[in-house]
Amino acid sequence: MKALVLSSGGVDSTTCLGIAVELYGKENVIALSIIYGQKHKKELEASKKVAAYYGTEHVYLDLMPVFKYSNCSLLEHSDREIPHESYAGQLEGTNGKPVSTYVPFRNGLFLSSAASIALSKECGVIYYGAHADDSAGNAYPDCSSAFHKAINEAIYLGSGNQLRVEAPFVGWTKAQVVKKGLELKVPYHLTWSCYEGGEKPCGVCGTCIDRKEAFRLNGVCDPAAQI
Ligand SMILES: [Zn+2]
Repeated sequence: MKALVLSSGGVDSTTCLGIAVELYGKENVIALSIIYGQKHKKELEASKKVAAYYGTEHVYLDLMPVFKYSNCSLLEHSDREIPHESYAGQLEGTNGKPVSTYVPFRNGLFLSSAASIALSKECGVIYYGAHADDSAGNAYPDCSSAFHKAINEAIYLGSGNQLRVEAPFVGWTKAQVVKKGLELKVPYHLTWSCYEGGEKPCGVCGTCIDRKEAFRLNGVCDPAAQI
């Protein structure tokens, strides 16, 4: 059995990759990194280092044209600033809508594209790192359990029952993801989460705040923050 893992170079997807390598062996795991017009290349560089660390095959896919009409603040062509605030704080002003860093239907698009690649490469399962903190308050609705259940069923049916989708952290907090990753000795020092593309993580964007807290709750320093 071969597995395809969506790999962004961040904490959650790298932990997913660690789990897949543990379960299937590095020769049966393919990391897939998607270019979608991010403001910086740090996460792609991180995903490359992570795949090299594990010794898995690494493939790239450019989906940038799909997002050319979006004004999501994560995208390079957007004139919106990335909020320097926790997700909870951001959600207070959104009236139940996703946060400004929500890339329109990103996981839906990524998983559909991944399904096609997975079938071509004879994989039976796709892993992605959605977790419960991301879908809390509808910040990222395509990270929710309901979304996961629906897309898993769609991909299973649409692939002729050949391919399923695993989101092992969909009911977990980010702190629980990090706990699992620390047990598996996931190379967090190679990962990148910050939405900004600076030399060091900014420490104040939504994902930096979440990441810092997840490590703090596990009683360890974030190894990437030390660099
Ligand atoms: Zn940041």
